[in-house]
Amino acid sequence: MTQDEGVPFHKLASTRGSYAYLVDGAEPVLVDTSLPGRADAIIEELRGLDRRPAHIAITHYDVDHIGNMGALAEHYGAALWLPAADVPYILGERPRPGIKRVIGALMRVAPPRSFRLLHSGDRVGSLEVVPSPGHTPGHVAFRGLGCLLVGDALRTTPGGISPSPSLLSWDRIQEAASCRNLTDGFQGGILPAHGEPLWWPMGGAR
Ligand SMILES: [Zn+2]
Repeated sequence: MTQDEGVPFHKLASTRGSYAYLVDGAEPVLVDTSLPGRADAIIEELRGLDRRPAHIAITHYDVDHIGNMGALAEHYGAALWLPAADVPYILGERPRPGIKRVIGALMRVAPPRSFRLLHSGDRVGSLEVVPSPGHTPGHVAFRGLGCLLVGDALRTTPGGISPSPSLLSWDRIQEAASCRNLTDGFQGGILPAHGEPLWWPMGGAR
């Protein structure tokens, strides 16, 4: 994939601030669902794109990623996929660590009625699940069609990539290792929740 060719993903403007992406394929996948309260806007934008996700895949437990998972899964009749190690936090069975305990208490997200578990190497539509712990214990990324959907495993800046703010990180050392694991040798589009899509490696052959 190059920047000039047609790209197989859609960055949803309705999720600005914490981007969700629709990835095309025989079974379209919506990766993440942004902040609570945006379901109607997301549905409207996807209608404009003439897309209906068959799968909704979540990178990690933070409220700005799971905010509309239940409403969207029900609206589309889509399979909802959650990273296995983050499920206790998503269901509220275990408190999120650090400052996220407060954020989670202020912005409650109802547990989904049904879901499936994501494990390393699973496939969801055209995407493969890549474990990327660190930002949260169960954080996963998704790779396929020349795209790397990184959630909050890293963020992009005009100058390149950087880790998420340390205050929001569960384990900095694991986070740094995951960032290297994801990007070493990868060529294609890096699609973050925070920052803009970036073609990798920067300055390299496209
Ligand atoms: Zn996060």
